[in-house]
Amino acid sequence: MKGTPSRGRHSRHVVHIICRRCGHKSYNIKKKRCSYCGYPDPKWREYSWSNS
Ligand SMILES: [Zn+2]
Repeated sequence: MKGTPSRGRHSRHVVHIICRRCGHKSYNIKKKRCSYCGYPDPKWREYSWSNS
């Protein structure tokens, strides 16, 4: 192995947290939006499970 694989600067800089809607760790706390499902944008409303 060459170079420095880990510089120890990876932790402590949390950007993505658990999304309330999809459960993925994709909620960007800086953008305040989930990069997976788009929360809190109403993106899932047109899905089939949302039958009225
Ligand atoms: Zn989400």
